[in-house]
Amino acid sequence: MSSAIVFFGPPGSGKGTQASRLAATLGIPQISTGDLLRNHVSRGSALGRVAKPIMESGALVPDDLVTKMLKERLAEPDAKNGAIFDGYPRTVAQARSLQALLEETGGRVDAVLFIDVPDTILVDRLLKRAVLEGRADDTRETIAERLRVYREKTAPLADLYRQSGALVTIDGNRAIETIASDVAAALQNARTAVPKGAA
Ligand code: AMP
Repeated sequence: MSSAIVFFGPPGSGKGTQASRLAATLGIPQISTGDLLRNHVSRGSALGRVAKPIMESGALVPDDLVTKMLKERLAEPDAKNGAIFDGYPRTVAQARSLQALLEETGGRVDAVLFIDVPDTILVDRLLKRAVLEGRADDTRETIAERLRVYREKTAPLADLYRQSGALVTIDGNRAIETIASDVAAALQNARTAVPKGAA
């Protein structure tokens, strides 16, 4: 895995939108653990049956289950040259697992793009998405729980990646295009350069 780029931020920050745009630009897959889990739920797999009530409550699916699922996804051929991670890692334990998984293939996290958006805006966006996409975990109660879980379990990753020098904070409360051009600029400056012209 030559290029691992992580999008990180609260639910509703728009990291999925940015991850999918960047994946198209760079020609490497976007790997969203939320999408992979929703796929398991809709197929009714063993993992899906365990994950469904957890996701509906706004809690996190246990690290070992998510990491196993991620490892399987990374073994697919399209992830050979890198991947854009969207929604993983979400805990310090997952960050360690990701590092270990990347090291197995001589890769590492090149850049962590932290899409920062104030809470009041997140709640608004998530309620709108609930109407548009009909996601079962976008109710007002679950949104509050997901933001609480984010603050408790996921936000501490910012410090971890700041210390490693990979973190770039991007103001996510702007137009999608403006954020995308900041993302591209951040990657040009990242410690391991993305191929010229790719971003
Ligand atoms: P997302 O689409 O990324 O907002 O994820 C939706 C839900 O899937 C989350 O609220 C969690 O319940 C679960 N989920 C997604 N990614 C992870 C992860 N990396 N670790 C644990 N649970 C996750």
